Amino acid sequence: SFITIEGGEGAGKTTLIEQLAHTLQSKGYQVVTTREPGGIPIAEKIRAVILDPGHTEMDARTEALLYAAARRQHLVEKVIPALRDGKVVICDRFVDSSLAYQGHARGLGMKEIWAINAFAIGEIMPELTIYMDVSPEVGLARIARAPEREMNRLDMERHSFHELVREGYLQLAAEYSERIHQVNAEQEPEAVFNQVLAIVSRCLEG
Ligand code: C5P
Ligand code: MG
Repeated sequence: SFITIEGGEGAGKTTLIEQLAHTLQSKGYQVVTTREPGGIPIAEKIRAVILDPGHTEMDARTEALLYAAARRQHLVEKVIPALRDGKVVICDRFVDSSLAYQGHARGLGMKEIWAINAFAIGEIMPELTIYMDVSPEVGLARIARAPEREMNRLDMERHSFHELVREGYLQLAAEYSERIHQVNAEQEPEAVFNQVLAIVSRCLEG
């Protein structure tokens, strides 16, 4: 089963994924956790190029293509083989990130981003996507309290950019409500985790 976790800055994806993997493993599932952009050496290198705070001249379409390229390599090298082995793959971000960030917030257009991503991912889509909804106020405040988190180029974006990212995700969650399950990520971590575990369990057992 392919499950993706989405959300803006400070939504708590990383922590949630760790807890989820731990719990599913204790129930006997073979779980692979991974992230985008990254997850394998080639894609981690592409990630470093995209997020380098010095790369202020990065063109928005170049950025979108690099995300799609990293996605392709990660699917081929890691996700598809794990799915073939019957594992549960939990991925921190996938195509919805590109749609919300590059398609909506950067204004490249969701249709355009779908087009380049269709080329990159072919038929592979997650069975389930958890969208962790958090306001930029709460999300960015959480990040500010996590000093060990590495600074990246996106940290220089204005508040309005993060509002647009959220707006993009909300549109996607409404449009693909069968696949995308929205969770209020401003709740206590334990409440968020219990909700997500219930949704994921239903997906895996159903
Ligand atoms: O979720 P994570 O912290 O790993 O994401 C790294 C950075 O990449 C974040 O700042 C996120 O906003 C940005 N990003 C983006 N467009 C994407 C995916 C991630 O701008 N499609
Ligand atoms: Mg994270």
